[in-house]
Amino acid sequence: MLDERLLRILVCPACRAPLEYKDRRKVLICTGCGHRYEVRDGIPILLPPTAAESDADAADADAADGDVDAGVAED
Ligand SMILES: [Zn+2]
Repeated sequence: MLDERLLRILVCPACRAPLEYKDRRKVLICTGCGHRYEVRDGIPILLPPTAAESDADAADADAADGDVDAGVAED
């Protein structure tokens, strides 16, 4: 069960559209982009869909930068 007042002020972190609570599946569905958010113990887990991917991309970019810097140092 999710607090109706809480649900009313919640928006999708990705597109700012209102969220719809699916009681049977215990998830929040974005009415805008359709992304699904987990609800654990009545607490919505509002992680933007790209959060995990962004972290991975950042790590890759750092590694690439390190290689470039090493090349420049040798010159
Ligand atoms: Zn959305």
